[in-house]
Amino acid sequence: MLLEGKKLLVTGASAGIGRAIAIGAAHHGAHVAINYHADDDGAASAVEEIERAGRRAVAIKGDVADPDSAPAFVEGAAEALGGVDVFVSNAGICPFHAFLDMPRETLERTLQVNLHGAWYMVQAAAQRMVAQDRGGSIIAVSSISALVGGEFQTHYTPTKAGVLSLMQSAAIALGKHKIRCNALLPGTILTDINKDDLSDPAKRSYMEGRVPLGRLGQPEDMVGPAVFLASDLAAYVTGASLLVDGGAFVNLQ
Ligand code: NAP
Repeated sequence: MLLEGKKLLVTGASAGIGRAIAIGAAHHGAHVAINYHADDDGAASAVEEIERAGRRAVAIKGDVADPDSAPAFVEGAAEALGGVDVFVSNAGICPFHAFLDMPRETLERTLQVNLHGAWYMVQAAAQRMVAQDRGGSIIAVSSISALVGGEFQTHYTPTKAGVLSLMQSAAIALGKHKIRCNALLPGTILTDINKDDLSDPAKRSYMEGRVPLGRLGQPEDMVGPAVFLASDLAAYVTGASLLVDGGAFVNLQ
């Protein structure tokens, strides 16, 4: 019960990592608001699971690429839950594509969802936390891709480096308000985002072979690191980044 009574908001929580963090946080005592874009059934079932854990839950639909969705989510969630203590910026897309013939719309949508969306959401959450004057924790789901390249991710990796950088600068801007800002850097976690890419058995076994812990990640592997950064156990942790990759990043030689 590391998050007893805290009000926690997560973007992109109808599926995958965001959903796991939302439900995991509820099991640690948090009341939870989720944002999502399209998957009404996924959002409704996440709300059900949070409520089954005995916590308050609300789902607010919105496209994070739309700047107006940020204040709408934060203020709607704060009203429903009674404030904002923890904000997890997680929504993201990764439409794998080659570099040389990247469609302009694919590049621009990826930048708008992953980077602009995170920026506006984090700003709206910070504005609310400053107004409340009781500090807070902001966590952005960046990626191992902030640190390493990917042939079919030339549009995606810069957004994840940007999100990591956003947490570093926001940690400085918000320290005086006792708001901590940290980044999670997942390695390969089995979700819809990479289902097609990993449907090739050769690619999947290559990726598994690169992980010292011997398996790819599950969304639930992200819960402990997120709960830690959200909780008072991390009271002196800000501007930090935490790789959650089974050791893949250091496995070069
Ligand atoms: P996922 O299973 O595809 O889930 C993505 C979630 O984001 C869904 O709930 C989706 O909601 C939501 N979403 C997508 N576009 C949105 C938008 N414009 N506005 C609001 N919500 C939106 O993906 P995931 O793997 O959990 O990814 C979550 C985050 O982790 C992303 O930022 C991703 O870059 C990062 N990450 C993932 C991995 C990995 O291996 N899986 C590794 C490193 C980093 P709807 O379905 O309702 O649209």
